[in-house]
Amino acid sequence: MRSMYYSLVCLGLITSVLAPTPAAAQSARLKALVVDGQNNHDWKKTTPLIKATLEGCGRFTVSVATTPAKSEDMASFQPKFSDYDVVVSNYNGAPWSESTMTAFADYVRNGGGFVSVHAADNSFPQWADYNRMIGVGGWGGRNEKSGPYVRWRDGKFTRDTEPGRGGSHGKRHPFEVVVRDAKHPITAGLPSHWMQAEDELYAQLRGPAESMQVLATAMSSRESGGTGEHEPILMAIQFGKGRVFHTTLGHDVKAMSGVAFQVTLQRGAEWVATGSVTLPAVPAEELTKDTPAMRDPLKLVSTSVNFDSMPDTSASGWQSLFDGQQLKGWSQKNGTATYKVEEKCVVGRTSEGSPNSFLCTEKNYSDFELAFEVKVDDALNSGVQIRSRSTEEFNKGRVHGPQVEIETGGTAGYVYSEGTGRGWISKQQPKTEVFKKGQWNTYVIRASGARIQTWVNGQKIEDLVDEESFRTGFIGLQVHGIPKDKGPYEVRWREIKIREL
Ligand code: ZN
Repeated sequence: MRSMYYSLVCLGLITSVLAPTPAAAQSARLKALVVDGQNNHDWKKTTPLIKATLEGCGRFTVSVATTPAKSEDMASFQPKFSDYDVVVSNYNGAPWSESTMTAFADYVRNGGGFVSVHAADNSFPQWADYNRMIGVGGWGGRNEKSGPYVRWRDGKFTRDTEPGRGGSHGKRHPFEVVVRDAKHPITAGLPSHWMQAEDELYAQLRGPAESMQVLATAMSSRESGGTGEHEPILMAIQFGKGRVFHTTLGHDVKAMSGVAFQVTLQRGAEWVATGSVTLPAVPAEELTKDTPAMRDPLKLVSTSVNFDSMPDTSASGWQSLFDGQQLKGWSQKNGTATYKVEEKCVVGRTSEGSPNSFLCTEKNYSDFELAFEVKVDDALNSGVQIRSRSTEEFNKGRVHGPQVEIETGGTAGYVYSEGTGRGWISKQQPKTEVFKKGQWNTYVIRASGARIQTWVNGQKIEDLVDEESFRTGFIGLQVHGIPKDKGPYEVRWREIKIREL
């Protein structure tokens, strides 16, 4: 904070204001259920990738429902579909029980979201509602009786009723996908052409194709053993009140490592669940045209942020910033307060007449979760700088940037813009009693993009979006300045650790 005296005056004035609101909080995560258990594809390997792809964009929490194995009794498979915003099928196997099939069709008909991935469109050839949901399908005896082929010819889609099998593919290869409906929420904002990783290019699918929009096609080339036709690759289908996204992509791990598969799956799942897509559009640099963009979906999960809950400080990935022995990796900036190590704590002690002092990490951190414990003398104001800077050009090295407040008067955990003249970043600072005087207090801070969240002793204090502050910088432990005849006062930190996002 700027000055103890000013803040004490303020505290007297601010007694009851509205509770802090999570400004621009990301909407709660959508619930997805992946269905698997039988498939002529390696579902045990691919379901975790579907889960990681959906969770990795931060929009979904994913559960998995696995059917009994082939030739086992299906009666026990009765997921409660209505508990989910979207059901994703990675299933190609024996029919479910009558009641489960009815429950699933009712779920979609009444507004539930459904995503059919790759060979899920091979499944259930005899189930009329299912064929309506997926629009077109392949194999399983599908033929002209199942419905037409849907073909892109002369710049438009036509229904081709000629006799013939339903479902084929040439040899696996990377291929170009062409958007045919750039206005649909799933494809809006995406490049018009992109390359999918090596995958099976499904061809000759046929089915009722009612209320179905083909969003993208790909040329099934003769050289690859294909049909020489542009085949439907991504489809959006309306079934009753429900929405269906049908992707023929995703044969195996390699195919699911394609950014094209991942991005369209994420967007398709969000669309079927909500009717719109809030996930950011992916530019051509990311969804590339000449060579397929690849990324390991399992790595998406480790960087995903669940803004709905406090960071789990017992999870993996945390690194200690202070070993309890020495101040390696830290250096002091501004002022003459002293910092030393005592009893495995960093102890900051005031120095009469000194301006604010900071013990700062030598390293900069951008998106991270930070945790520490702190104990402070009642009379001392302190705080922890995040994403802060000190440069000769700005006020002769004055440390400046967001500071998470540490003090005993009721504003602990709010965010102040130290050294910039801007004042509080927290729009309101309704007093709390969460900070314990004369005792250790735990702080957990999350900074991700423009969003900053803080918790003190497990209670959420702040959740704000601040576009103005730096997105990267050092972490700094503040000892506030005191006048000549005051002090000395102390503040202690321990268990300082960080997890970079
Ligand atoms: Zn396949």
